[in-house]
Amino acid sequence: MSFNATSSSLPTHAELNEAYFVECDKQDPLTCFRDQFELADDLIYLNGNSLGVLPTAAKARMQEVIATEWGEGLIRSWNTYSWIDLPQRIGAKLAKIVGAKEHEVIVSDSTSVNLFKLAAAAIKLNPGRTKIVTEPGNFPTDLYILNGVKNFIGADIEIVTVPSNEITQHIDENTALVCLTHVHYKSGTMLNMNVITKAAHEKGALMMWDLSHSTGAVPVNLNQAQADLAVGCGYKYLNGGPGAPAFLYVAEKHIKSLQQPLTGWFGHANAFAMSDEYEAASGIEKTLCGTTPVIAASALEVGVDIMSQVDFVVLREKSLSLSEHFIKLMAPLCEQYGFELATPLDPNHRGSQVSYTHPEGYAIIQALIHQNIIGDFRAPNILRFGFAPLYVQFMDLWNTVNTLENIMRNETWNRPEFMKRSKVT
Ligand SMILES: *Cc1c(COP(=O)(O)O)cnc(C)c1O
Repeated sequence: MSFNATSSSLPTHAELNEAYFVECDKQDPLTCFRDQFELADDLIYLNGNSLGVLPTAAKARMQEVIATEWGEGLIRSWNTYSWIDLPQRIGAKLAKIVGAKEHEVIVSDSTSVNLFKLAAAAIKLNPGRTKIVTEPGNFPTDLYILNGVKNFIGADIEIVTVPSNEITQHIDENTALVCLTHVHYKSGTMLNMNVITKAAHEKGALMMWDLSHSTGAVPVNLNQAQADLAVGCGYKYLNGGPGAPAFLYVAEKHIKSLQQPLTGWFGHANAFAMSDEYEAASGIEKTLCGTTPVIAASALEVGVDIMSQVDFVVLREKSLSLSEHFIKLMAPLCEQYGFELATPLDPNHRGSQVSYTHPEGYAIIQALIHQNIIGDFRAPNILRFGFAPLYVQFMDLWNTVNTLENIMRNETWNRPEFMKRSKVT
């Protein structure tokens, strides 16, 4: 059996049985990572693309940060436990994960806030240009923030939304910034970072990538693509905890001239000089704004440390093998029950999730969750199954599709309690 399976090399559907998936798990070179996470035996978690699971080591680390560093050290811990360096320290570790230099990445704020800081900075870096190009259906916060930048920074700024497969044709000499999400949150489509970045540069535009669904899920190499700017999320595949701080990247060549709008004291050249005048730090620290959330950042560091041990070639192979097998197992359900694949079949264009559309998607996902299989739903009709390669097993695929088949055959999704919408879906 080949681990590096593509559709054509997979066994026939009839050969995909329980024993086969048990064997896949036995051969999985990443199984040692699963033991580093808190996962109940009776739970199948296919939602690491939305909120990653708890690393076991984070429990002890949180205890230590709270009891010792905060409880005993109090304000001294800014120095004795280097709280002050957390953003740079974790940033440097993340740099290896996204193919950047250590001083190009820093942990700060939320992805939304980082998008605002860097999109506004990009307009300043590229004066005289008024267009920001992005795609319709991008993650909502990305579109909202770009519009916020437009409304606050300059009346003549124009946001142009074009489908991602036509983006390169719409970048012109008036484009200041192209801002795209590398792996789409609904469809799981992965864009070609190198090709689109190059097209932006050919017209003199800057390129910003949102790596929220990429970091820890697929290999990323910002330096190789020559990306100018990037942002990303800490609580998804990085397993940094709910509301974990986010990160941002600024290419070395832009750091000196970059100016960002949220000129808070943590971005100052010498915060503790307590000067009345703002003077931006010379390095990536200039992108910081206020005080680091120390507890949350310390939890994120545990997740990043685990991810730092991963060979991303092996991770990508497993991720694609998981998605290929899932798509294959789902094929008969598509025919019989009307699921439609919303994720590209070409593995080069796929991140680490597989999505389907179905008119009853919401209730179907609730019925699955009721049986301890956690995927999620995105309006209007998308069922998402995220395959975080560090802890999702091949048996999970087999069990999920069998349970789903049962739910569809017996119509167990068709119950009033599965139709009721919660505040968070
Ligand atoms: C999850 C996600 C975000 C999250 O933004 P927050 O500010 O952390 O809420 C932003 N962009 C994309 C593409 C995402 O997937």
